[in-house]
Amino acid sequence: LLRINGIKHGWFMRYGGVSEDLFESLNGKKGMGDPDKNVDENRRRAINALFPGSKPENNLVHIIHQFKTGILTASEPGEFKDYDACMTIDRELVLSQTTADCASLVIADLNRKVIALVHGSWHTLKANLICDVVAKLKQLSGVGELVAGIGPMICKNCYEFGPEARDLFDTKYLITPQSHPEFISGSEESDSKILKQVQNDKQTRYLVDLKQMVIDQLKDSGISKIDDVHICTKEDERFFSHRRSGADSGRMITLASLK
Ligand SMILES: [Zn+2]
Repeated sequence: LLRINGIKHGWFMRYGGVSEDLFESLNGKKGMGDPDKNVDENRRRAINALFPGSKPENNLVHIIHQFKTGILTASEPGEFKDYDACMTIDRELVLSQTTADCASLVIADLNRKVIALVHGSWHTLKANLICDVVAKLKQLSGVGELVAGIGPMICKNCYEFGPEARDLFDTKYLITPQSHPEFISGSEESDSKILKQVQNDKQTRYLVDLKQMVIDQLKDSGISKIDDVHICTKEDERFFSHRRSGADSGRMITLASLK
């Protein structure tokens, strides 16, 4: 939907960068062991792939997540800490964020007046960040109909939580052991999965449908045109995945601009 309407954006695979080992190779996040100069080069390559002639120092607005659900209204390039969403009306700016399994949303209006990136983690979704972002977007004058794109993210078959999921999430987003007993961890020798559940209640695992939380919040915010690339980052090794590779591995770059 975004592409049809001329809104340039991209979710980048792991390839084409200069980072090594767990960050191989197009890691977009600093501060986890990958030298900053590598990340800077990776960002330069990414922005040039999508917006030839652009320079990170002149055009890139990169937000660094801290689960504080801050929303940046960007008017100048730079790196900005403690934001889980950013938006701009400036056509020269390219918005950037990194994720690995969380949702990375691009939201834009069909008149191409404003564009936003949102980090859809379970923290930010519980805080209704998408609803806040959309409310801010609508405040900007001249905003037309909003459309949203959901990039590669962890799917409902892969996003595992322990018993704390019962307290954290609405049950409609949980695939519960009762309906899917195969997700209960415990002794492999046990013949009865239901028995295992009783015996190992503290180890009960849940699967969480993070994407449905995203879709519901978009719809609750009044956005009905939603596209999804239908790629699971944990299953598809072309993408970085926190759950597959660990916390200190690479992060996927997302870029979007009205440029
Ligand atoms: Zn999956």
